[in-house]
Amino acid sequence: MPMLHGCAFPGCSTFTLSTYCVEHELLVRAVKESERAQAADASLAADTALAADAALTAAAPEAAAS
Ligand SMILES: [Zn+2]
Repeated sequence: MPMLHGCAFPGCSTFTLSTYCVEHELLVRAVKESERAQAADASLAADTALAADAALTAAAPEAAAS
């Protein structure tokens, strides 16, 4: 049988069945998702910058020749 215990969030004394109370469960989940989104964005930005560099390098000799 599940037991009620205090929320694991520092300073929060709300009793809950899960690790965090409903409020902090949502907060922790939102923080994790935003961190994941930022990591994905950074990876995507790096890929885009690399692709742009490659395209510029490939295009440069032709531009110089003509
Ligand atoms: Zn809490």
